[in-house]
Amino acid sequence: MINSKVIIVGGGPAGSTCAWKLRQKGIDCLILDKKPFPKPKLCAGWITPGVLDDLAITQDQYPHGLTKFNKFQVHIFNKELKIKVHQYAIRRYEFDDWLLKRSGVTVYTHDVKKIIQDGPNYILDDRFRCQYLVGAGGTHCPVYRTFFRPVNPRAKNLMVVTLEEEFQYDYQDGNCHLWFLQNKLPGYTWYVPKSKGYLNVGIGGYFEKLKSNGDNIKNHWLLFIQELERLSLVKNYQFNEKGYTYYIRNGVENVQIDNVFIIGDAVGLATQDMGEGIGPAVESGILAAEAIISGTSLDLKSVRKYSFPWYLTALRLLASRLFS
Ligand SMILES: Cc1cc2nc3c(=O)[nH]c(=O)nc-3n(C[C@H](O)[C@H](O)[C@H](O)COP(=O)(O)OP(=O)(O)OC[C@H]3O[C@@H](n4cnc5c(N)ncnc54)[C@H](O)[C@@H]3O)c2cc1C
Repeated sequence: MINSKVIIVGGGPAGSTCAWKLRQKGIDCLILDKKPFPKPKLCAGWITPGVLDDLAITQDQYPHGLTKFNKFQVHIFNKELKIKVHQYAIRRYEFDDWLLKRSGVTVYTHDVKKIIQDGPNYILDDRFRCQYLVGAGGTHCPVYRTFFRPVNPRAKNLMVVTLEEEFQYDYQDGNCHLWFLQNKLPGYTWYVPKSKGYLNVGIGGYFEKLKSNGDNIKNHWLLFIQELERLSLVKNYQFNEKGYTYYIRNGVENVQIDNVFIIGDAVGLATQDMGEGIGPAVESGILAAEAIISGTSLDLKSVRKYSFPWYLTALRLLASRLFS
């Protein structure tokens, strides 16, 4: 049996941030992840400067590609607007691996299946034992499944379906493009050029809304790649897109049961306007570590709900109500 005071299931941004903070205080902790790192993770990879601040990373310290965007080219109702922003884009393949290594904790490649409580301890797959268990396993987190599903059910109407591909491409347009409300998509599509010649294109939308319109995400993907071709943003490329689902932020009341915690996508914390989850994953990882260190309850109500200032969010929500 491998013993550790804290075991974190999942080595994404939520898990690695929690581990990093615990290690800073010298707390015994390990991470279990079902896949070896570095590994691909479907994600556009936008992060705000606030995420870098939370992670105490300066632009110079980060050794991989960090693309800076000062504006977004927003396409809406056949108009193109330039919106001033202060955003960065990273590649998750590099970012997640770097954060995990920086945390300095031991990582086991292990797919957690069975978790039981044994007095004050938790035992995972008859192999790992801990006093504190942190569920950072994303949408399909086994800690969420075992302990939290009944008390913290995820709202079906907040489930987002996505299709995406990140690939090497000799892109000619280095701007970040976003399309809202195209073909009545209850979501948006993106074109994000990244460092070292990588391009990320993707689409995300609310599953229930698509279904109630008799629609699906694949239809919108096909229209989207036609649009990329029409605008000469991506030409003659054979796409091999992949899909993933996750949840937009809902209730965050039940995130701790005894010494078991859930954070990041395991809770469903992605921002309500843009569906960004890296920042909330990082914030919740820090808060979980602080709760374990200080012996207080985990409270995630302070985790940011929106990516953009309230007026941009209000405008977008209003437009989506009027036109979807
Ligand atoms: C297409 C797409 C685009 C996105 N774009 C953005 C964006 O631009 N900006 C942004 O901020 N957010 C974006 N998001 C959301 C963001 O990716 C997530 O919110 C974020 O990754 C959540 O981090 P996490 O650490 O909670 O979970 P994850 O990053 O999902 O990490 C969970 C980890 O747990 C591991 N795991 C799962 N099950 C088990 C198990 N049984 N045993 C052991 N390990 C397990 C997984 O292998 C994984 O490494 C996007 C999401 C999608 C799908």
